[in-house]
Amino acid sequence: MKVLVIDDSFAIRRIIAKFLNSAGYEDVVLASNGSEGLSRLSGVGLILTDWNMPGMDGLTFVTEVRKREEFAEVPILMVTGAGTKDAVLEALEAGVTDYIVKPFTKATLIKKLEEILK
Ligand SMILES: [Mg+2]
Repeated sequence: MKVLVIDDSFAIRRIIAKFLNSAGYEDVVLASNGSEGLSRLSGVGLILTDWNMPGMDGLTFVTEVRKREEFAEVPILMVTGAGTKDAVLEALEAGVTDYIVKPFTKATLIKKLEEILK
């Protein structure tokens, strides 16, 4: 399955990609903000996106993805530093499938992915 990972931090992109690779997700595509993410959507079966990014942020990205019929059902995991109730509600309303708060372990990430891919 092709996985799209969007984060403005190179270090976080690299860590997430490493976690994904070691869990058997080998086809990982990276982007550094929402607009770059939109340009790399083709064939994607799972999306992990940061919220705060320069340029197009994660929330706007998710809203744009959900407008596209072919990606209306693709699971999206929001990876965010903001785990407040309001932030979570806003993300879910925009169409996020689930969220994970930074920092997280590989085990937490993989468990979350297994849940949303069920
Ligand atoms: Mg960020």
